[in-house]
Amino acid sequence: MNITELARKLKVTPNALKQELPKLGFHIGQRAIQIPDKQAEKVISLWQEKTKKEEMLFKIKEKMARTEVEEEKIETSNEIILPPKIQTYRLAEKMGFSIRKVMNELIKNGVLANVNENLDYEVAAIIAENLGFKPKLGEEEEKKSSISLKEKLKEVLTKEIFDLNSEQKKELLTRAPVVVVMGHVDHGKSSILDAIRESQIVSHEKGGITQHIGAYQVEKNNHFITFIDTPGHEAFKAMRARGGEIADLAILVVAADDGIQPQTMESIKVIQQENIPFIIAINKIDKPGADPERVKKELSEINLTPEEWGGKTICVQVSAKTKKGIDDLLETINLIADMEKGSLITNPKGSLIGAVIESHLDLGYGPVASAIIYNGVLKQGDRIIAGDSYGRVRSLKSQLGIETKQVPASLPIQIFGLKELPQAGDLIEVVEDSREFKKRVKQMSFSSSEAFNQNYTSLEKENNLKEKNINLIIRADVIGSLGAIEESLSPLKNDEVKIKIIKKGLGDLTESDVDLAKTTNAWLVGFGTKINSSVQQLAHDLELKIKIYYIIYDLVEDLRIEINTMLSLEIFEEKIGRIEVLKIFQQNGKETILGGKVIEGKVIKNAVVRVWSDLKKDNQKEMELTGEGRIGQLQIEKKDINEVRVGTECGLKFIGKAKIEIGDKLDVYQEIKKQKEV
Ligand code: GDP
Repeated sequence: MNITELARKLKVTPNALKQELPKLGFHIGQRAIQIPDKQAEKVISLWQEKTKKEEMLFKIKEKMARTEVEEEKIETSNEIILPPKIQTYRLAEKMGFSIRKVMNELIKNGVLANVNENLDYEVAAIIAENLGFKPKLGEEEEKKSSISLKEKLKEVLTKEIFDLNSEQKKELLTRAPVVVVMGHVDHGKSSILDAIRESQIVSHEKGGITQHIGAYQVEKNNHFITFIDTPGHEAFKAMRARGGEIADLAILVVAADDGIQPQTMESIKVIQQENIPFIIAINKIDKPGADPERVKKELSEINLTPEEWGGKTICVQVSAKTKKGIDDLLETINLIADMEKGSLITNPKGSLIGAVIESHLDLGYGPVASAIIYNGVLKQGDRIIAGDSYGRVRSLKSQLGIETKQVPASLPIQIFGLKELPQAGDLIEVVEDSREFKKRVKQMSFSSSEAFNQNYTSLEKENNLKEKNINLIIRADVIGSLGAIEESLSPLKNDEVKIKIIKKGLGDLTESDVDLAKTTNAWLVGFGTKINSSVQQLAHDLELKIKIYYIIYDLVEDLRIEINTMLSLEIFEEKIGRIEVLKIFQQNGKETILGGKVIEGKVIKNAVVRVWSDLKKDNQKEMELTGEGRIGQLQIEKKDINEVRVGTECGLKFIGKAKIEIGDKLDVYQEIKKQKEV
């Protein structure tokens, strides 16, 4: 049989057939023209078999692809409940994806987050959606997403107390309440904290110098009270976001001469979400304009009717300046603590649970964390894990700077010996078994900046430049400043230049911050911190912006200047004059040559012109916009000119589509380009 004939039968080209024949076991050579009939028959049957196999394979592949699509569809219908905030790794866990996949998706969406970053629902939802889920906001999930201090405390205590016999139960103690002071700016939070600290610690501790360690404890009528020394709901919110619902009681400061203000309301919201008892301290009662009754009235108006007015809100009138009422305030705290005794139980022999209040990097000592213990006793030598940090407790120092071997519940303490800087609100636990400790530390070693650098490709770098971002790496001395800085950036918001905080933390700027700044072209910002000379040198060598600020306003202003240089020009029009049309010389569909008189302002060449025609004639109020164009040419007595002033007659070429008639008015506009500003 002829090869060409055989190829036709098999519906392939002769060349393709020649290439396939050896695979079927027929070696007839590339130049052959004929093939014996018997062999041709065999080829035909083998060919059919081969085709069938291929078809089957194709079908299998197709089916597999369909299943994948179907699976994807099923996945797409997967609803996922997300909390208002969720850490990157928990989001990955929830969706059953690797952390890397989630981080890649975040970067694709322009979010530079680390593994432990708390993502807002809006961000998490976009990521979940992109990865095939149907996200839904669920309030309840918030707590599950990060085990909160209070939950853990409750769980541990319930279990431990259940296992105790009656003798052991006698060893349970009531710990001192942990109190936060909140309220509007300038209402006197710091002054009240200072007044309490001075009046109590100094007099009782016989001249001991108190250190600022983020919290302090005082004694009043044989009862101890612990105060968190960082005032403001911002700091409190930041701690809460990390699971550290640190306070048992809140003092809401309201200035008697100013009443309820926006941050008072925000604080109330936080307190109510936290569901903790609170006292209103009506402060500044010494001031001439003070009106405590007005504050009480305002409180009643927002459903916080004071006790003395028949409500449930406890109010104490104080003056941080004269110290009047401070004793009352402390006694009231004791009273409430007594009523809330049940929730202040602590088991000194139980598992250790604590929370970080503040942390900073000390050049001599390394990371130092201020903390409060809620259950158990923290001892020197303990192996601890605090958020992403870990280490053996090298030493413990009290608020008076005195070294101590062990710390009971509610006593503020500084912990030395951690390997990394923990963040305010991180929970602290002790891992007694050394092997278990090593295992936990290994699990934590997926460093955020490493992960970040791996994912931050040059493409993102390019996008970053195109998108006009200012990236910031911020380190502050206290957590409260970080919150305040973030808040202060909001007036700089604009559609063109985005400010992104790609890393924030406490302590001094580090060399790894500089590395990250290099990859992300970020500003290195220290707030109230120091710059070590090698970090400074490295940043300078890499020509990176690095600066220490002490006032938030200065940072905001520097950013404002930078943003303003990056913003595009804004073009707007300003009306500069008006012409009345007196004569039409020539008119076609595209341009009109006319004569007119400048009746207002001036007219310039190339200006934008809007034509107003009096459609009903003689009725000025019925003028309608009938066309728009530009002034192509301007003449006075046939001489080209650039500008004609009011009262002068001129000739002009109007370029644009408009049916201009005698009597029409032409409004003349000048385009003004202005640099946009924030
Ligand atoms: P914070 O922003 O809430 O911490 O407020 P501060 O404690 O910094 O106080 C703001 C201002 O109010 C400062 O100038 C204080 O001296 C003043 N101040 C605070 N408490 C009192 C008070 O009881 N009486 C008077 N007259 N001034 C006070």
